[in-house]
Amino acid sequence: MSAPDAVVVGSGPNGLAAAITLAAAGWRVDVREGAATIGGGVRSAELTLPGFVHDVCSAIHPMAVASPFFRTLPLAAHGLEWVDAPAPLAHPLDDGRAVVLERSVEATAAALGRDRAAWDALMRPLVDGWEGILGDVLGMPRWPRHPVRFARFGLRALRSASGLARGTFRTRGARALVAGLAAHAPVALGLPASASFGLVLGLTAHAVGWPMPRGGSQRLADALAAHLRALGGTVTAGAPVTDLAALGAPRAILCDVGPPALLRLAAGRLSRTYAARLRRFRYGPGVFKVDWALREPIPWRAPACRRAGTVHLGGTLEEIEASERAAWRGEHAERPFVLLAQPTVFDPTRAPDGRHVGWAYCHVPNGSTVDMTDRIEAQVERFAPGFRDVILARATRGPAGFVRDNPNCVGGDVYGGALDVAQLLFRPVLSFAPHRTPARGLYLCSASTAPGPSVHGMCGHRAALAALADAR
Ligand SMILES: Cc1cc2nc3c(=O)[nH]c(=O)nc-3n(C[C@H](O)[C@H](O)[C@H](O)COP(=O)(O)OP(=O)(O)OC[C@H]3O[C@@H](n4cnc5c(N)ncnc54)[C@H](O)[C@@H]3O)c2cc1C
Repeated sequence: MSAPDAVVVGSGPNGLAAAITLAAAGWRVDVREGAATIGGGVRSAELTLPGFVHDVCSAIHPMAVASPFFRTLPLAAHGLEWVDAPAPLAHPLDDGRAVVLERSVEATAAALGRDRAAWDALMRPLVDGWEGILGDVLGMPRWPRHPVRFARFGLRALRSASGLARGTFRTRGARALVAGLAAHAPVALGLPASASFGLVLGLTAHAVGWPMPRGGSQRLADALAAHLRALGGTVTAGAPVTDLAALGAPRAILCDVGPPALLRLAAGRLSRTYAARLRRFRYGPGVFKVDWALREPIPWRAPACRRAGTVHLGGTLEEIEASERAAWRGEHAERPFVLLAQPTVFDPTRAPDGRHVGWAYCHVPNGSTVDMTDRIEAQVERFAPGFRDVILARATRGPAGFVRDNPNCVGGDVYGGALDVAQLLFRPVLSFAPHRTPARGLYLCSASTAPGPSVHGMCGHRAALAALADAR
């Protein structure tokens, strides 16, 4: 076998996106994955009982279907099929109702009562220009290609989620909906720019939906790897890289790792100034996750929850604010905000006949060792009385488990680094070429680089474009 033109360290969605970009340009590419299975944050496994397929990390993929890069790939030809629930999201309230984020802006607004016009006014302009807005968000940091639309989005996105919710909406339901969307990111909702996550997720729900791959998230990683192989690339699992020197001298090395790992792997190659800047990179709260094998679907009190792929459990804006503030400050919320997915209600292939899986997590302080299982299950039980009676088995994972599984999850931070405003705009360092390092031919391509976390592959794609440009 001839030596590769490029080696990619890590087979997360960004590593695979980088490898595909290079292979499509005619480069010979090897991907080395340290774990036994490829995919990084896009893997599935029988975590509880035989026949129950759980998503180890990511489960819901609006950013993958909206990704300007993934949209160009023939992933359906490699077996990827998207499954959409009738509604992307439900948010149950204590009075037995649920607010529902529907695919249609009109239908969502219509159910928000006095906030009907406010939802329409906030979302419609974003949804109408969604491709341009997301293209600019995922292209940051650079001058936007659609400056007017981007400015309209940016003015709202730079607000705090709490400010946006209180300043725009009057009803409990609409405020809670906005808080839950924003709280996907592990940041205190009073911080500047915390509204950005909620706006992006809200607009994707309306524009492209919040689908899941039939059979589990692993199918997305497998389809990406199959496409890479079709382009002549290779992917090897169980092949951790401990020193870049062992990779020979390819034209480019792209690392799907975090800044601390790059410092270890590239010891001696990085300038002292750049190394010092990487050392200042900060990580944020971690995650505690529970996966359940279930005898039957979750017995939601609000029937609307049965129509949604994702359910947000946190009651009111105030409760969600308290939960996220606690994790941000290094404390554990008594009633944590819980993100829950119920894939088998819409994709029965992932569990034995009539059985189901459930996926849920909450934010905890970085490095937390507290077992949040009871608190998470209490939140589900609050909105689905009898839930505990349908549990057949559970698997839990806190920060230490995430780190063991994937060294990128430093302290259980599954977002590749803190998402405060500075690291949201510039990651991993203040630079307009965030994927390049000062070492010739060495690039960082993980979610610790722009444009940040989620399964969209744009960090990897953009790092690979930088490598191709430098090689010209
Ligand atoms: C619990 C959880 C839930 C999530 N939910 C969602 C969701 O629903 N939707 C969504 O869009 N996103 C979600 N995410 C986030 C998403 O998974 C990540 O943003 C995304 O996977 C980051 O991709 P990446 O390629 O940068 O890194 P990763 O996916 O972390 O992949 C990095 C890969 O590199 C490998 N690696 C690291 N070091 C080495 C080395 N030295 N040698 C060889 N291999 C190495 C790792 O083993 C890993 O496979 C979730 C994440 C978690 C953990």
